Order: sequence, then C-alpha cells, then structure tokens
Amino acid sequence: EIILGIETSCDETAASIVKNGTELLSNVVASQIESHKRFGGVVPEIASRHHVEQITIVIEEAMKEAGVEFEDLSAIAVTEGPGLVGALLIGVNSAKALALAHGIPLVAVHHIAGHIYANRLMEPMEFPMLALVVSGGHTELVYMEEHGSFEIIGETRDDAAGEAYDKVARTLKLPYPGGPHIDQLAQEGTATIDLPRAWLEPDSYDFSFSGLKSAVINTLHNATQRGVEISPNDLAASFQESVIDVLVEKAHRAAVAYDVKQIVVAGGVAANKGLRARLRERFEETDIKLSIPPLWLCTDNAAMIAAAGSIEYNKGKRADMKLNGNPGLDLEAF
Ligand code: ATP
Ligand code: MG
Ligand code: FE
Repeated sequence: EIILGIETSCDETAASIVKNGTELLSNVVASQIESHKRFGGVVPEIASRHHVEQITIVIEEAMKEAGVEFEDLSAIAVTEGPGLVGALLIGVNSAKALALAHGIPLVAVHHIAGHIYANRLMEPMEFPMLALVVSGGHTELVYMEEHGSFEIIGETRDDAAGEAYDKVARTLKLPYPGGPHIDQLAQEGTATIDLPRAWLEPDSYDFSFSGLKSAVINTLHNATQRGVEISPNDLAASFQESVIDVLVEKAHRAAVAYDVKQIVVAGGVAANKGLRARLRERFEETDIKLSIPPLWLCTDNAAMIAAAGSIEYNKGKRADMKLNGNPGLDLEAF
C-alpha cells in the first residue's frame, strides 16, 4: 500500500510518501521558522498564509520525488488535530479535495500518534509499548497495548517540555525555537546551579515544568539585581539537567511498572542531545528496547503522519468529506 501523508498543524508544511507504513519514499518539509522568528513564536495568521502558498508545491514535490501518481495511492492521510485550527484546515481541505477529485480513500490522523509512529519508519514496534512524548505542546507518557491504542498514563499539568525550553530560551534572549540553542549551550556548560525538580506525588507519572521555568527566570533576575554574572551555559545545563532528570526517571519507572517490551521517544524535544544520551544510559541496563528517531523525524513532518495513517487505513478507518480540523482532538478517543 502507498500513502500520501499531509501535515500542516503548526509551522511546517509537509508531505510525504510512505510504502506499507514503514518504507519512506519521499519526505518534503517546508519550514516557516524564518517568518516567525522575529515575533519570537508562531503567529497563527502567518502560518495559515504560508501553508496556503506552500501546500500544492510541497505535495507535488513529494509525489515527484517518490515517482508516484495519484492512481498509485492507496490513501491520503492528513493531520486532523491537535494544532492551530487555521493551519490544520489547509491540510485537511487539500487532502479532501485530492481525495474527492481522484477517488482516493481519506484517513484522519492524530498529530501525536504521528510523532509516536515516526519510530516505525526506523524499526518495528514491539508491544506492549510506552511512548515518551516530548514536543512543543505535549509532554505525555502514553501506554500502547497494541497498534493504534493509546492510554495516557501521565501528562504535564502546566507547560510542555518544549514550551519550557522555548520560554527559558527567550529569557536568555536566544532565537526561536529555543530548544536547540539551549541544548547547544548546555553541552558547553556544567549543571552547577540548583534548580527544582517537580516529582509530584510519589506514584504520579504527571509532569510540571512551570515552576522550573520560573526558577530560571528568578535566578537570572536576582543575579542581575545583585550585579552578579551568571554563565548562560551553566544555567542552560542546569535547566536541561532538571528537565532530563524528571523525564528519564518517570519514563523508566513507568516502563518497568507497565512491563513494556519497548519505549519510544517522540516529538521535537526528542532531538535533545542530553536527553538522548541519558535515555540510552538509563535503558542500556534493562531489557527494554529503546527507540529514538533521528533528528529529522523528531520535529514535525508528514512521513510520521503517513506511517500512523497506514495503521488507521489497515484497520479500515476512513474519514469523509465532513472531516474538519480539530484543534483539541483527543488521543485516547482517537
Ligand atoms: P505538538 O507536536 O505538541 O503539537 P509542535 O509540533 O509545535 O507541538 P514539535 O515540532 O514536535 O512541536 O517540536 C518543537 C519543539 O521541540 C520546540 O519547542 C523546540 O524548541 C523543541 N526542540 C527542538 N529541538 C530541540 C532540542 N535539541 N532540545 C530541546 N528542545 C528541542
Ligand atoms: Mg514546528
Ligand atoms: Fe509536533
């Protein structure tokens, strides 16, 4: 089976062709980061406009690179949500138009299911499985009994991990998106500054990053007031260590408690060098298989949407012409 994936939930216009849910034939991503940078974050109206301009070109490019025609497609898989509603609509409407015009089945995909399924493009998934989802808008531990089944056993009570990275980066006057810049600084610093870790209740798999973010801001503020220099590298390293300590510890505890065969890491923050290294260290001594996608599959792309779409397609799930963008789409109900 051959699936065209389409992703426009945030600030990447992306299309990809994937064969049998695992074999990548093409992967085209038009990033809008440059246009949003000067505003320090994604501006929804600008995002929608870019998607409109890019979507046709990106889809054509993905088809051409893969050497496929519309008649070769088994299905078109598109991100239904969550995301920015105006941005989602561009992808959904393009997918609907193409599906209708060419008589191709339409499949709706949850963006976070996509992030998780990016891993299937690298290696087979083994169940039961745990996914550590760490993206710009989500921080979740998702238990999967089998393909397409999602149970959220823990999630952030305030900021997402990526959001915390971006906010701390902004305080350090680093460009948007801040995650990669903090990661870079952290490699060059040492975690000498004492910052909090939100463990929450002893049995909780939930997360909280807003206290940590405030602690970083206060540390900087107090230093400035006292005329003390603080090394941005050490602050970044300390912040990063605090985030990683909690993520890795809770993921490990959940993986053991749920007796999973595999743990996969998903979402933009999975690109973090420090997190990747610590996860490898922590899971090395277990017989749980750890999968972390390569960097280009961590951030938003359409290959992951096609890969997740393949599961939906083979389950016989179909969307119709009533499909709409759904900014608050629920992963568990999906
Ligand atoms: P969601 O998937 O929850 O809807 P999103 O699609 O905006 O949100 P992603 O594209 O998955 O999020 O990830 C973007 C986030 O990943 C940003 O917050 C960015 O700062 C962060 N990020 C990217 N690379 C790194 C890195 N090396 N270290 C830490 N964070 C990173
Ligand atoms: Mg993005
Ligand atoms: Fe994403």
